[in-house]
Amino acid sequence: MLEATGLMVFYENMLALNNVSLQCGDNEIVGVFGANSAGKSTLMYTLSGIMEDIRKKEDMAGGERITVLGRIRYLGEDITNLKPSSRARKGIVLCPERRRIFSESTVMENLRIGAYLATPAQTRETLDYVFKVFPALQTLRKRIGGFLSGGEQQMLAIARALMAQPRLLLLDEPLMGLSPLIQAMLVRATSEIRREKSISIIVTEQYARPVLPIVDYAFILENGAAVLEGGREELLSNPDVRSAYFGV
Ligand code: ATP
Repeated sequence: MLEATGLMVFYENMLALNNVSLQCGDNEIVGVFGANSAGKSTLMYTLSGIMEDIRKKEDMAGGERITVLGRIRYLGEDITNLKPSSRARKGIVLCPERRRIFSESTVMENLRIGAYLATPAQTRETLDYVFKVFPALQTLRKRIGGFLSGGEQQMLAIARALMAQPRLLLLDEPLMGLSPLIQAMLVRATSEIRREKSISIIVTEQYARPVLPIVDYAFILENGAAVLEGGREELLSNPDVRSAYFGV
């Protein structure tokens, strides 16, 4: 479904992504694990195309020089030069780090904004679906986003991304700062979404352990480079990998 080859991103002379190649197959969940500053968000911005917007903005403001190299193919097409909005229309939807919900808008308004690419029928159907996966959101639908708890905001961020009708969902550190109980609920929901909606998912996390049970394949990023990759079982059966990266 998606294949990125030789991605390099420089912020001025700082190399944030170093020749990263990664694939995500149809209906797969792919994990990308790495410590703070490993390059996870840079990768997600590059795949979603938002990096190009950031680059142009910096360029126009006379800010830092950002260089992006490499190729991205998606559903058999080279999308390297496509704008983020065109990628979103083709189904690549980013659920960004730190949730970025609209904090002054209600839950329902956030969901409707997410549905900007959907037909009215899709909007109705997806609303029913997100309320099924996250029943708490239905109860909270008139609440202002900024007053929700971290876990509720994360549910809303994922639900809002689903409203945009993704075929490939990019989840950037969805578990950050949440309790183990909420994390487990979100991991279950992610797996359910893949199964029921046939959506492919690339998920980044600092810690692999909570997400590992649901990923098919994973990459480990270190200082911008993919230093290790493999199927879930393969990674889990490697004792060095287990202790160094998975804390198991
Ligand atoms: P975190 O878990 O902290 O979000 P991350 O793995 O998502 O980390 P990135 O945010 O992609 O990492 O950052 C990768 C590297 O690039 C870091 O060293 C970061 O400081 C640097 N970086 C990120 N954005 C910029 C920017 N706009 N200008 C300069 N350096 C940046």
